[in-house]
Amino acid sequence: MSPADAPAAGGSPRVDVVGTGISGVACAQALVGAGFDVRVLDRGRRPGGRLGLRRVELADGSQHLVDTGAAYFTVSDPDFAALAAGWSTDGLAHPWTDTFSLLGPDGPRGTKAGPQRWSAPGGLRSLVERLAAGLEVTSGHAVRSVGVADGMPALDGRPADAVVLAMPDPQAGRLLDVEASPGLASARRVLSRPWDAVITVYAAWDEAWWPALDAGFVADDDLVSLLADDGSRRGDGAPVLVAHTTADAARGALGDPDSLVRPVLERLPHLLGAAPGDVPEPRAAAAHRWSFASPSQVHDAPHLLTAVAGGLLGVCGDAWAATSSGRPRVEQAWRSGRDLGRELAERLA
Ligand SMILES: Cc1cc2nc3c(=O)[nH]c(=O)nc-3n(C[C@H](O)[C@H](O)[C@H](O)COP(=O)(O)OP(=O)(O)OC[C@H]3O[C@@H](n4cnc5c(N)ncnc54)[C@H](O)[C@@H]3O)c2cc1C
Repeated sequence: MSPADAPAAGGSPRVDVVGTGISGVACAQALVGAGFDVRVLDRGRRPGGRLGLRRVELADGSQHLVDTGAAYFTVSDPDFAALAAGWSTDGLAHPWTDTFSLLGPDGPRGTKAGPQRWSAPGGLRSLVERLAAGLEVTSGHAVRSVGVADGMPALDGRPADAVVLAMPDPQAGRLLDVEASPGLASARRVLSRPWDAVITVYAAWDEAWWPALDAGFVADDDLVSLLADDGSRRGDGAPVLVAHTTADAARGALGDPDSLVRPVLERLPHLLGAAPGDVPEPRAAAAHRWSFASPSQVHDAPHLLTAVAGGLLGVCGDAWAATSSGRPRVEQAWRSGRDLGRELAERLA
């Protein structure tokens, strides 16, 4: 029997949190901080979720880390600012840039100042790994269903006082056994909004052939929406570019994400103002699929918390904001998870 399948010990209310993206980890942290017994499960091998990380080999044989999910994070909440300051002190994160290039199919069109964007030398995933350090996490455990057992919400048949799903709505919604309880049926309806996909294409060259930039928003292009210089982001100057496709392009290639590698590589010189014939072949290039990258619309609530049988079901993540004008961002996911954890702790106490 794995630790994740072990029966509940008696005593304090028990909460199961599914998802070790930044929202699930923030939720579990808040609950553990309040003295609860929390089991944290994720089907992935490492915590981080959409703070994705891959490696590419550079010309000198070294392995370069590439952020393939979120490109950066921004800070506005005072508590999140304190967390970011701590990461900065520990060398885990640093302010990266507040100025992005504006790119189009005809080349660079200028720059745009905005909020300070932060990046992480060890990849954004390393920040979630730091947050998860004190938690009891079971990785590689795919949850199949949320139903009802012994009059309580139950994860794959195992009852708990509360179950939290910290993941994109479509992934949470399909776990709910809507026949088992009206609470699960109404939660499924709330979670039925569509989400957009993104395919991330990343490539390394022997040396940079593009003009210096940190990152660029791409307009008027049917294929690429954002381009980041990963050497600038990481701070090591490595000649690596990361492109996020548009949602439309991704939708058409979900079955074969690699099919977008060549078209994106061929688009890069146009976006960056280089003559296509002057651009060398990359030494490595790959694609990563995010079927549920971002919600088409965020909920006008910081999280979902609803009664299921004799217990509670919570859903949190970047689709949940205090107002519908909030944006699906790393900080928002963290805040949604933290606030759900705090509210659950109060309700269960
Ligand atoms: C391509 C891309 C670019 C982005 N760019 C930015 C950006 O520049 N700035 C920014 O702030 N944000 C950006 N984001 C958004 C940011 O990544 C998210 O807001 C944040 O990471 C969401 O965290 P989360 O915890 O809500 O969800 P997730 O990180 O998606 O975590 C969900 C977790 O649930 C797990 N899970 C799902 N189903 C199951 C199951 N059945 N059983 C067990 N585990 C399960 C998954 O494995 C995953 O680990 C971007 C996202 C993508 C994909």
